Parts: sequence; C-alpha cells; structure tokens
Amino acid sequence: MAYRIFALPAHVLAHPPPVLNAVDDWLEPELPELEDSLVRALAGAEYRAIRARDRLRALLQSDVPPELPPPAEGYGPSAYFARAPRDLPALLRLADQLEQLAQRSTGERAMVWRCAHCGTRYAVPLHLVREVSIRCESCSQTVLMQMDRALGEEALTEPASGAINALRYRLSGFFREAMARGWPVLVSMSEPGHRDA
Ligand SMILES: [Zn+2]
Repeated sequence: MAYRIFALPAHVLAHPPPVLNAVDDWLEPELPELEDSLVRALAGAEYRAIRARDRLRALLQSDVPPELPPPAEGYGPSAYFARAPRDLPALLRLADQLEQLAQRSTGERAMVWRCAHCGTRYAVPLHLVREVSIRCESCSQTVLMQMDRALGEEALTEPASGAINALRYRLSGFFREAMARGWPVLVSMSEPGHRDA
C-alpha cells in the first residue's frame, strides 16, 4: 500500500481540479522506497489522542470514501489529515513527537553477543536486554546472553531505521511548513494494483 501526504492552498479545494497535483503550489515530503514507510514513520506518535497511523488508516479505509480528488493518477480520493487553524496545535505536537522519536531511535544502543559455537552475532536493544539463554538460529547451540559474556555495545541503526528517522524529520518539517502557510494537509492511498513508493 502506497500513501501520499501533501499540502496545497485551501482555496484550490473550493473548486479542485480532477487530479490535485495539477496545481502549481504543492508541498510533499519525499517518502523512501520502503514498504509502508509513512505508517512506520508515524508509529509511536499520537495525533488528537489517537495513534497517528490509526488516524491515517481510518481516514482512507473507512466505509465512507474521502471526498476530495486524488493527488495523481493511480491514487484514490484524498482526505483531510489536518486543517489550519483548527488542527494547528495538534499537528505541531505531532511534529514534536516525530522529532523526539527520531532522536531517541537514532541514539538507541544495542548489546552484542556472539554464538561461541558458530560465531553468529546477536544485537539486542539495551532496553530489551535480559539475562537469558537462547537457541542459536544458525547452529541451535545455546547462546548465554549474560552481561559478562557480551562483546560490548554498539549503535543500533540499521539502514531501514535510518531512512525512517530521516523521514520523521522530513515529515516534521513538512507539517510545520504546511501550518505556517495555513495549508491543509491531505492524505491519499494508492489504488489496488498500483505500485509506487
Ligand atoms: Zn551458533
């Protein structure tokens, strides 16, 4: 499922063109080519006391279809995610949360163990570390995850989480810019069969 999130001047929506991106004024954060990148970036953030990603899904997958034209061909109708000035405080809070999530996740560290038998590495986020033994996925030998057996700590930033964190910063900047301009923020979802980032 591919989503689009974008903003454009509110007056355009009084008499919208059949496809919204026909207008000149347009703001849209670039989404990385990862499955569900927008949903993943919003994970852990709240908007108006519900989970932001649940709001996204509820807007686009409810029984009542959204009322605005699609952003481009291959996409379904668009729905309001936020409208200035009413949603300004809530959207700015969401922008704050996204930045905090990105900071926290970028700084996350992992404790590393290695299977004594086959050498397979196991990196466990620090907040999930418990002294347990696991069965090695490669050789089925027991790996004791005890602190005195750990190889040490390392930063836990796999490429995908780096891309999601970068998207969180982009989204945050996008939300702030849209609200500064007074533009509504809209969302849309690709139609079945359409593949796009
Ligand atoms: Zn092993």
